[in-house]
Amino acid sequence: MRAPAPVRDLAARLARTDALPAYIYDLGALDAHAARIRAALPAGVAFFYAVKANPDPAVLRAVARHADGLEVSSGGELRHTAAAVPGRPLAFGGPGKTTAELAAAVRAGALLHVESPQELRLLAGVVRAAGGAADVLLRVNLDVPLPVGAGLLMGGRPAPFGMDRDCLTQCAALIPGSGLRLRGLHAHLASGLGVGAALRAAAGVLRFARPWCARHAVREPVITLGGGMGVDYRRPGATFGWEAYGRGLAALAGDGRALPGETLRIEPGRAVTAYCGWYATRVLDVRRSGDVTFAVVAGGTHHLRTPAAKGHSQPFSVIADEDWPHPWARPAAKDAPVTVTGQLCTPKDVLARDARVRRVRAGDLLAFGMAGAYAWNISHTRFLMHEEPGFYYLGEDLT
Ligand SMILES: *Cc1c(COP(=O)(O)O)cnc(C)c1O
Repeated sequence: MRAPAPVRDLAARLARTDALPAYIYDLGALDAHAARIRAALPAGVAFFYAVKANPDPAVLRAVARHADGLEVSSGGELRHTAAAVPGRPLAFGGPGKTTAELAAAVRAGALLHVESPQELRLLAGVVRAAGGAADVLLRVNLDVPLPVGAGLLMGGRPAPFGMDRDCLTQCAALIPGSGLRLRGLHAHLASGLGVGAALRAAAGVLRFARPWCARHAVREPVITLGGGMGVDYRRPGATFGWEAYGRGLAALAGDGRALPGETLRIEPGRAVTAYCGWYATRVLDVRRSGDVTFAVVAGGTHHLRTPAAKGHSQPFSVIADEDWPHPWARPAAKDAPVTVTGQLCTPKDVLARDARVRRVRAGDLLAFGMAGAYAWNISHTRFLMHEEPGFYYLGEDLT
């Protein structure tokens, strides 16, 4: 993939002051992308951003201009998000919530995604002690057959997330008189979904959730359809088809089975922020071992864990650096497949495998794209005690 000129320019400037490796965020592109997502969705569908994909404060501010709210998954994310984008609607989900986390979420006025009868009891205790109230969605585990490709399947099998139907029933029975308000159901069944699969998931959730909410007399129900919209790391130019997805959701919302006052909600993470981040670094060495050519870069998967976590090659762009001092011939690869590795003492530190390059030399720069989601914030940064990367935003004044 070819990095846009402003990313290449900033990477080259940072290289001159020895400020690489660094993350470069294109907040303008993110703003436009989030606006496109909002515009593609029907007016009645709420768009919450899953903060765990990338909680960078500037990223949150850009997304929050277009999102209806933010979905957080820990007490830390709750605190951080409330400070970065104050006053925005919050939903608090995730397994294993502690009493302290539940109390913080209630104080913040967040909607809670409840994962079990035990959690519901804890939450009721928190609400009773605080003398308040809280809105809850019950998270359901449903079996909807879905093709997930390189994604993950959470629903339709034993899982630490989401409840089987008997647990839902138990929860519904515990709610009256508890200070909790049952607002609807939540599902997040899979990640890595194309448009067709995401719509099939949505239809499957609605098929269960609408009659369930009607049976339990949930007024103006909120039905969360989940995130998991796919990002194809092999095709950096192709994004999730938000327009087609929006049309599909509009059809589901208007299929005649909608409940009165119903709100559908989605909570994507990866497909919102993946494209706005770049990880730029310098090639330290180009070496051959057997029939493989390795380009060894500064940094590695302890900064950008995405390719190790997903088992893919992270797409990148080579930025030639002619000024790099090299008293001897620079080791180089030309028109050859190159495996890009980092500075960790493990064969798993691979950023890209057998990537075709026209030319790469020691001293050249690489800018890895699609590094804006589940990238820096999922990385095992303390392994080997290397320096952390810098963080830069296109257009900011570096002086
Ligand atoms: C992680 C997560 C999301 C976001 O998933 P993406 O694949 O990043 O879109 C949404 N909802 C829940 C409950 C999650 O755990």
